Amino acid sequence: MVQSFDPSGAIETPEFIPARMLNEFSFCPRLCYLEWVEQEWRENEWTLDGTRQHRRVDKPGGALPDADKMDDPESETIHARSVTLSAPGAGFIAKLDLIEADDGEALPVEYKRGAVPDNEDQSWEPDRVQLAAQALVLRENGYRCSSGVIYYAQSRRRVTVPIDASLIERTNELARELRQTTERGAIPPPLVDSPKCPGCSLVGICLPDETNYALGLEPAAAEEETVRRLYPARDDASPLYAQEQGAYVGKSGEEVTVKKHGAVVAKIRLMELSHVCLFGSVQISTQAVQQLMKREIPVLYFSYGGWFNGLCSGMPHKNIELRRQQYRASETETALKIAQTLVRDKIQNTRTLLRRNSSVDVDAAMTELKQMEDRSLTANAFDSLLGIEGNAGRIYFQHFATMIKNKEGSAETPPFDFQSRNRRPPRDPVNALLSLAYSMLAKDLTLTLLTVGFDPYLGFYHQPRYGRPALALDLMEPFRPLIADSTVLTSINTGVVAPNDFIKAGDAVSLKPDARKRFIMAYERRMDALITHPVFNYRVSYRRVLEIQARLLARFLTGELQAPPTFTTR
Ligand code: SF4
Repeated sequence: MVQSFDPSGAIETPEFIPARMLNEFSFCPRLCYLEWVEQEWRENEWTLDGTRQHRRVDKPGGALPDADKMDDPESETIHARSVTLSAPGAGFIAKLDLIEADDGEALPVEYKRGAVPDNEDQSWEPDRVQLAAQALVLRENGYRCSSGVIYYAQSRRRVTVPIDASLIERTNELARELRQTTERGAIPPPLVDSPKCPGCSLVGICLPDETNYALGLEPAAAEEETVRRLYPARDDASPLYAQEQGAYVGKSGEEVTVKKHGAVVAKIRLMELSHVCLFGSVQISTQAVQQLMKREIPVLYFSYGGWFNGLCSGMPHKNIELRRQQYRASETETALKIAQTLVRDKIQNTRTLLRRNSSVDVDAAMTELKQMEDRSLTANAFDSLLGIEGNAGRIYFQHFATMIKNKEGSAETPPFDFQSRNRRPPRDPVNALLSLAYSMLAKDLTLTLLTVGFDPYLGFYHQPRYGRPALALDLMEPFRPLIADSTVLTSINTGVVAPNDFIKAGDAVSLKPDARKRFIMAYERRMDALITHPVFNYRVSYRRVLEIQARLLARFLTGELQAPPTFTTR
């Protein structure tokens, strides 16, 4: 689809509607909008099965004779596969799976993976209108076409569909509605409590029940779950961390390999990878990068010490409308509203962490933090919000050491005697761990934002600065205590890291390589831990929560939701 920029602010609708989009629109207008306007696509088991079923007809083959030769006896045998035709009059473009000749007429055959439906028409409306659009395209190109066929692969049956006046009227009516919808530039609402959603491949992007809940349309809270969770609680794919200095990352068949001194030390299947992290002087082959980019698996570069330097990803997300809204919002009151929510959530989450883990009485700190939490929502300028956040951070870190159980070191090793937050470089073990955990979290939020279609470098609270993923830093605020600080405390308190795991060079303290591996594993475990979402009340991993929050923020910016998303635990 070619979209051109109109200075008035609208995005031009393409001249031709693909017949396939008419099918999607009839199934669910929101699905059509997500796929066509926002250019979203995800595979699930049904879409993959559909692709398998289509394989034979997706290969162009056979020949479609000119319309005026269709009456030739030889035309009886045509089987033209994967033919694309357009009809400027009707405004459709269609890729036809198969065209057969039948008594001088062209007969479009549409392949569908499912079974013949048990209804009066023995077919679904979305399939019938798709076929009708194909028939209109054929007619406009001079072919006679009075019927089409839907081949339902699971039943191995052909269902003939007459292209009559009522089907054409319905098809044109849907086409008009589709155009009006895309020209309005507002995403249609999600279906309510629909049985279609669990099988929809875009359910994790659409968030139908979450959105309806936020809009007040979802039924009252059930006993166990407030809304249905319609996608897996955790991601199947996980990151590869290549930290061994001198290691080489390559590709072999469907696997990524890590070699050291020519010997393979690790192999990971490409389909199981979410992203690849390279530390210091780890090399990667061009073939591996090409394949990773093709599969939308980013490669991230860290310094030897764990500083996140940048990333290499495939083509940017195609949803330009979201980025336009992001840029606009960053210069309006909306930015302050988002920043207030982020700071409030962060302060509340630091209170929760302190209350749960401190070994001493922190009531006074709790009261002070609560006051700052409340004030953050009424701060009328970024400066005052920064002041509130700074004060809250000072109080929180003054009490941080009360959550550390084993503070002892030895003559040779530094103790976990945290005094205050310091960085660049961190000057004690706790600060070294905090810096690494924040760096990991910034990396994960940068990736999440790119996946959703944001520009991670333009934030609402953090000001733009060269190379700083300001929006990732914004969104990580509420999650610093919950994910990063919590990983640090668990790692120290359960002995994942010990005082002798650190090296001191001048003022700087850093983790030894083996301990860093253990700490990163602890961080990944935290990201995969299942928690109960405080708003939707279903079990979900922190990794998924980050994506849900980013997607809800996108819905707020594009006007679907009235308030920015919030995430606080009790
Ligand atoms: S999840 Fe449901 S509402 Fe959302 S696009 Fe899919 S079918 Fe439509």
